[in-house]
Amino acid sequence: MTYTLPDLDYDYSALEPYYSAEMLRLHHDKHHAAYVAGLNAVLEQLDEARASDDFEAITGLEKKLAFNLSGHVLHTIFWKNLSPDGGGKPDGELAAAIDEFFGSFDRFQRQLSEATATVQGSGWGALAWEPLGERLYVAQIYDHQDNIGQNSGPLLVLDAWEHAYYLQYQNRRADYVAAVWNVVNWGDVAARFERARSVPLQ
Ligand code: MN
Repeated sequence: MTYTLPDLDYDYSALEPYYSAEMLRLHHDKHHAAYVAGLNAVLEQLDEARASDDFEAITGLEKKLAFNLSGHVLHTIFWKNLSPDGGGKPDGELAAAIDEFFGSFDRFQRQLSEATATVQGSGWGALAWEPLGERLYVAQIYDHQDNIGQNSGPLLVLDAWEHAYYLQYQNRRADYVAAVWNVVNWGDVAARFERARSVPLQ
């Protein structure tokens, strides 16, 4: 079994003016696709290592696996987190939980915006569910896999890699973050929150 690039649920131009069609096409068709290809390649290399009983390169292969797998997972969530019908604020239990753990939606939004806009180098901002303490928290993920707690489930992820915004926003990463709130699919985030809470820490 190999991993495949998922189709988008909307047209490339559907998120304009907040996210340009050209940038979305490149981001999905080239950047996300590269992580899928890298993931399948490293799985093949691990098969070969086991078959030849040669684990000399195991450390590098495991790093490649974590990087590409996490890149594929995060982008898959990111596309679902966005919608041309998005924006506004969550309601229901997600809204109540955000108020509980962050004080208010506005404080949560400021924290996640700051976390995303200030990632050093390449990374992501994320709203995540932590099942051990049963808490929501904001994570500042480095690359695709560092600086987030084990077993935390990302509910809303904002890509802060330069390829995610540079074509339209150049160096203005904070402007990109401010714009992307207009297309956040809160229904998708709420559904992830409900599923995450139904799976307790094993
Ligand atoms: Mn990306």
